[in-house]
Amino acid sequence: MTTAASTKQRILTGDTPTGPLHLGHWVGSVKRRVELQETSDCYFIIANLHAFTTRADQAREIRRDCLEIVRDYLAMGIDPDRSTIFLQTEVPAIAELTYLFAMLVPFNRVMRNPTLKDEIRDRGMGDHYSFGFPLYAVGQTADILTFRAHAVPVGEDQVPHIELTREVARRFNQYYCGVSDQAPDSDHVSLGGVFPIPVADVGTVSRLVGTDGRLKMSKSLNNAIFIKDSPKEVKKKIGRIFTGRQSPTDPGDAGNALFQYVDTFIEDPARVAELRDRYTRGDNIGDGHIKQEIAQSVNALLEPMRERRAVYEGDDDAIMDILRAGSIKANEAAEETLDLARRAAHLKFFDRELKLT
Ligand code: ATP
Ligand code: MG
Repeated sequence: MTTAASTKQRILTGDTPTGPLHLGHWVGSVKRRVELQETSDCYFIIANLHAFTTRADQAREIRRDCLEIVRDYLAMGIDPDRSTIFLQTEVPAIAELTYLFAMLVPFNRVMRNPTLKDEIRDRGMGDHYSFGFPLYAVGQTADILTFRAHAVPVGEDQVPHIELTREVARRFNQYYCGVSDQAPDSDHVSLGGVFPIPVADVGTVSRLVGTDGRLKMSKSLNNAIFIKDSPKEVKKKIGRIFTGRQSPTDPGDAGNALFQYVDTFIEDPARVAELRDRYTRGDNIGDGHIKQEIAQSVNALLEPMRERRAVYEGDDDAIMDILRAGSIKANEAAEETLDLARRAAHLKFFDRELKLT
């Protein structure tokens, strides 16, 4: 007999606890997750081990940020009764599969990954990054495949990681499950493969630029508007978006960072069109005025989130309960996959059991 849950499409996505969540997360991924939890079997991972790739000396802060991210999830409308929120390090199958998957990808293939290259450049890591830093890309394939997810709602920067995941899944199914290298992706499971070939489900705004007007909004680049920012902070940060335009009568470039915020956060399409028209013509409309309208819209979006967040402020026990229940459920799915993978790869010698309390 098939249960209702097993016929639903599986979703896996998540966040690294390198700081609180921001507007880029909302438009790039979380908004979509909130929709998907109505129809899909959703798993949301707090990738705390991956945070050690750049913050190995800040273990205490990583732990704090894990709880903060759950607060942000709840604020944005993720419902722990419908979705599974869990900690990466409480699901050991992921680490075990990471090691195995690392054997299925050429080292140079990982190092060619454009997202890794961008991160190394934007964070000024030079050649000082740890061995574990590029390994996180392989780890992310394990995050996804451990849950045999069909789709991964992510921002544009993550697409190369999903491509790597697809390659690993195909290779595993070919090496260990007898699936032909000519098989269409959609047939891998029906042909006996352990892993479905997952697709990236990219959000409506796939790359929200930060308040520096240049780089992707990121927790670790000091250019983010956080979900938990106060109305005043939001106003101040939006005020800082730099366009280089001098006067309200200068014709502006509606392809700039400021207009990405107009397009993304001002809801009335007629108002957006009017602003664009006046801005491009330099029809006496200053950047300052546009920033005010953006700040109003962003604050209207964030206000109900702030209210939901306030319920859990200071209540770590409630957050830990959500993470415990989620991690127990995640392990059920993960252990099932690990067992299938170990059998397929002739790695299963004995039975074992995992128990979380
Ligand atoms: P870090 O600076 O630590 O890399 P981050 O802000 O880039 O943090 P991640 O945890 O790497 O956030 O990303 C989590 C998810 O949010 C990913 O799916 C990513 O694509 C999406 N995301 C992050 N920033 C943006 C953005 N500015 N625009 C669209 N999507 C984004
Ligand atoms: Mg990132």
